[in-house]
Amino acid sequence: MIIYSNVIDTIKQAATILFTEKVSLLNSINRVLQEDIVADINMPPFDKSAMDGYACRKEDLDNELEVLEIIQAGRLPTKPIGKNQCSKIMTGAAVPDGANCVFMIEDAQVLNENSVKCNNLQTKVNICYKGEDYKLGNLLIKKGIKISPSHIGTMAGAGYTSILVSKTPVVGIMATGTELVEPSKTPVAGQIRNSNSYQLMAQLQTLGIRYNYIGTIADDFEQISVSFEKSLANNDIVIITGGASNGDFDFVPAILKKHNFEVLVDQTGVQPGNPMTFSKKNQKYCFGLSGNPVSSFVQFELFVKPFIYKLMNCAWQTPRLKATLSKDFCRQKAGRLGIIPVNLLENNIIEEINFHGSAHINALAYANALMEVPENVTIIKQGETVYVRPI
Ligand code: AMP
Ligand code: MG
Repeated sequence: MIIYSNVIDTIKQAATILFTEKVSLLNSINRVLQEDIVADINMPPFDKSAMDGYACRKEDLDNELEVLEIIQAGRLPTKPIGKNQCSKIMTGAAVPDGANCVFMIEDAQVLNENSVKCNNLQTKVNICYKGEDYKLGNLLIKKGIKISPSHIGTMAGAGYTSILVSKTPVVGIMATGTELVEPSKTPVAGQIRNSNSYQLMAQLQTLGIRYNYIGTIADDFEQISVSFEKSLANNDIVIITGGASNGDFDFVPAILKKHNFEVLVDQTGVQPGNPMTFSKKNQKYCFGLSGNPVSSFVQFELFVKPFIYKLMNCAWQTPRLKATLSKDFCRQKAGRLGIIPVNLLENNIIEEINFHGSAHINALAYANALMEVPENVTIIKQGETVYVRPI
């Protein structure tokens, strides 16, 4: 029996990690970080006020205080604070020597131009101490993560303007099927619109991965073979949909053989989406996905996506949540890992949606997650917990 976890391991092990390159800070968004980000300064770099207020000695809070100066953020204090003295201070400004607390402007009673009193003896310290967030030399971000906007903020704060990231693979998309027409055309009898290619291009776009759309190719050995050969020149991965199983016009396995690709996977152990080939030759890879759109979607999520992250040396893990079924679930065959499109409600309750199987493309439009039904399980009772993968 083919087990999903073995298949994904085989696919990931086949990946030769891509080289790295330097990109500008903002261009590193969604890329995979390949250097550790280390602090070049303390943060904050000096004791700074967390409030607009008055900096003084905590022990003087009960007394009338003489105001020495106004300290603006970006300017340094010029006068140390002594007994029964304070300076007006703005958020982010350096705390003057001698002061050990800042009371909020809202708690201040201004007595006259030069003196003030605190109305709140319970006031907090309200100082962010030098190096309390991080210290010079601290590791701020470990290499291997996918860069998000908050990482960009941290890197900017640490003075990084040019970032070492993994190169990204380029993916060629090719749809096989004599019955296929492009979405702009109205299918005549026997035809169907090519939806897979667009779905796949969108899936790649959400990962920030570049692709070349090769087009729709009829089920003809020579034509597919020529297009495949051409697509290898400028793509690292070629995704072919359709023609991956054992029908009379399913040429993908034979074409891979002709081009000396080593087929490492020909079944996934997943339902829907069992027929799928994964093959490689040197550092070129080919996924032969099912023609059925739900299968193609699932195969991309379960196999292509983790493979792409592996190529980029990313410590990425598929996000999986535990969720509870709102109704009993049952299926006929239990041999494979079941992947069912579902609607995940706010409190992690799973709502089943209308789903007829691998060809039911618009079922996915109502789904926000894929539910995992483990191998050898046919029935899951209402209230039982299963894993779901948000999509
Ligand atoms: P195949 O994997 O080629 O046997 O195709 C399985 C089913 O998916 C058939 O009903 C095809 O018509 C359909 N199909 C194949 N390719 C596509 C595509 N690119 N877009 C939408 N449906 C497709
Ligand atoms: Mg076909």
